[in-house]
Amino acid sequence: MTIAADFSILESQKEFVRRYHQHSEEERALPMLTSACPGWVRYAERVLGRPVTPHLCTAKSPQQVMGSLVKDYFARQQNLSPEKIFHVIVAPCYDKKLEALREGFSTALPGSRGADCVLTSGEIAQIMEQSDLSVKDATVDTLFGDLKEEEVRRHEGRGSDGHLAHVFRHAAKELFNEDVGEVTYRSLRNKDFQEVTLEKNGEVLLRFAATYGFRNIQNMILKLKKGKFPYHFVEVLACPGGCLNGRGQAQTADGHADKSLLRQMEGIYSDIPVRPPETSAHMQELYQEWLEGTDSPKAQEALHTTYQSPEHCTHSLRPPETSAHMQELYQEWLEGTDSPKAQEALHTTYQSPEHCTHSLDIKW
Ligand code: SF4
Repeated sequence: MTIAADFSILESQKEFVRRYHQHSEEERALPMLTSACPGWVRYAERVLGRPVTPHLCTAKSPQQVMGSLVKDYFARQQNLSPEKIFHVIVAPCYDKKLEALREGFSTALPGSRGADCVLTSGEIAQIMEQSDLSVKDATVDTLFGDLKEEEVRRHEGRGSDGHLAHVFRHAAKELFNEDVGEVTYRSLRNKDFQEVTLEKNGEVLLRFAATYGFRNIQNMILKLKKGKFPYHFVEVLACPGGCLNGRGQAQTADGHADKSLLRQMEGIYSDIPVRPPETSAHMQELYQEWLEGTDSPKAQEALHTTYQSPEHCTHSLRPPETSAHMQELYQEWLEGTDSPKAQEALHTTYQSPEHCTHSLDIKW
């Protein structure tokens, strides 16, 4: 998944610089809001709509990029048709399952989904426990190339894929020729609303924010709608604290977040060295081999997406009586809408307590 996140970050970096230049002519080019969290993107698409969706970064999320990589590049490498591959993703939240169902996936095979199944880390832990398997029995394999243990690397950002830090550094260099060392976060209202700025001679050149959790997201939206939101870029995550607090992570026996396990995971994760995606030679090869270049139409199709507004999310909210398919089914399957067959197949009957004596001998 690191390679997929690399693509997502590299495309987000380029898009931010483009939007920054466009901003004087197109007001909604900024702030650019990240799109890697499906909990947030679904809320933006289905509830907030047009005032917000133009601000969403069009770079696909790491999970969506992984779908394209596996069903397109990997399938071709292995000489397999995409439908012969069953692609399972392990994720920190249930929203990633919904993301896998989201329409608009573009892979080599029209109509095929990038991910066929999404399991949360908690579900994987449960399956392994039920099968008497230990994580120590599992071997880590790679899809692309020979990954040796010492090459394992991560992105910046403990609770996220680190879009903010990578885009910030890239923008500082590209737009202002400034090299940023450590990215310094400043907590504002609370620890889930933080700010990062690039300043020169007392002037703020870049103002980025990290906004986690729906309380902070709603505040951000209110200010955005009033035109009083001074940020160029916002990393938005639906879960307070970020992905390590996702509802799909392993839990304690009584169903709460396993805090000591989370601390352990944070510790292990921070010990992995960081490598900026633009320094990876493997990524450059993939752009050439898979996508015919970094700015090719193929890269645009495989690595970017579009967003719907609530008024266009009709596939799930359409009144059932307007569906021609439903009318056909009534005729073909049930011999009409009010036929005895429709009554039998679509209706049930209920018993009163006096008739429910077969299994529950209750005295009223
Ligand atoms: S922040 Fe939460 S909802 Fe969003 S991707 Fe991470 S775990 Fe999932």
